[in-house]
Amino acid sequence: MGNSFLSKHVSGMPASATMATAAIAAEYVKNQVVHYNWGLGEPDGGMQPHLREAGQRAFAEGKTKYTPPNGILPFREAISEFFSGFGLAYKPGAIIVGNGSKGVLFNIFLATLNPGDEVIVPNPRWVSYEPMIIYVGGKMVTVEPGQDFKITPAALEAAITDKTKWFLFNNPSNPSGAVYTLEEQKALGEVFRQHPDVMILTDEMYWSFNYTDQPFVPFAVANPDLYDRVVTTNGLAKSHAMTGLRIGFAGAPNTPDGQGLVDTANKIQGNIAGNPNTVSQWVTIAAIRGDQSFLNAQRELFIDRRDAMVKGLNAAGLPCGTPDGAFYVMPNVAHLIGGRTPSGVTLVDDVAVTQFFAKEAKVIGVPGSAFGLPETIRFAYPVDRDTNIIPGAWALGEAVRKLENV
Ligand code: PLP
Repeated sequence: MGNSFLSKHVSGMPASATMATAAIAAEYVKNQVVHYNWGLGEPDGGMQPHLREAGQRAFAEGKTKYTPPNGILPFREAISEFFSGFGLAYKPGAIIVGNGSKGVLFNIFLATLNPGDEVIVPNPRWVSYEPMIIYVGGKMVTVEPGQDFKITPAALEAAITDKTKWFLFNNPSNPSGAVYTLEEQKALGEVFRQHPDVMILTDEMYWSFNYTDQPFVPFAVANPDLYDRVVTTNGLAKSHAMTGLRIGFAGAPNTPDGQGLVDTANKIQGNIAGNPNTVSQWVTIAAIRGDQSFLNAQRELFIDRRDAMVKGLNAAGLPCGTPDGAFYVMPNVAHLIGGRTPSGVTLVDDVAVTQFFAKEAKVIGVPGSAFGLPETIRFAYPVDRDTNIIPGAWALGEAVRKLENV
């Protein structure tokens, strides 16, 4: 059958670059090589005890059957409460759920994109957006950021065409860690007042990893008059260390289009995935209604790690500013491109520099080009400061010093 066996539809879909880094790490683990895995974006701590108990209780009580595609009502009620905590009014009937926010975003694209429809995405951007968009025949249109990794209203305006369907807004950002202020979100919102046909799809997964002195503000709260045009995606995977539970959700506006989106996403979900994991639904209810005080300690811990990472990278000769959120930094490596390694290899791009660091310093990162920002590397810091960040950064400095011609 050869090539004809596989679908043409997915031939253009790149493999996940972040997953590829996991393979390098697995090799080091297998061979018991001391290494620093700064590739995958996943909190290192486990779930809180009350969440583990909620999962065990669900199993013990036999809550392991199919549910409606959009989950049981108490689950959607809890999600509604989660959103209202931010000042967002999404009724349980306006909630879209999926297997991770990945599943939610994909269902939303499947439900809304026709061939040729454009989705505007600021660079640098999370790796999975483009594969999802192109899979359903859409087109990703990127907007380049300034030095602060943020886009300007003028750049956004210039990207809008009569084919633009969505503006996909990830805040706080993976991979840059940038957090848009309330004023900046309002300024972006202003652009959409001139373009009434464009809808806004947010990805606010890193809501709890906000290190500014201002509370996190969802886009639809910053721009209440655009509420009817915003779909807000969120989840507890990162905040509550529930990445493997695969629950994500979105709130749709209380409009005919919003209801149409919810119904269509449910239809897709019902046919393709059935329902989000039943036990995970119960854990999510416990997570939303239970104690949140650990989030403060988590925030402090991550600020400490971020500061150690930024200091270590700058000392290693990898310049970077201090990001306001998420758990990533993107140092610039342009000055190392063209450098010669001790084995005589010339580093031609950020992919080569990333590979050199993985080999020489045993520090695993993801090339910035995977996120649309070449000549940078994304390092994730949900790892221990003393045993991982500090020695890893030191090893990077040693590796940089071995390069000639830089
Ligand atoms: N959105 C962003 C920006 C992410 O970084 C991730 C995970 O890395 C996700 C969505 C996916 O989250 P989930 O685990 O809920 O699918």
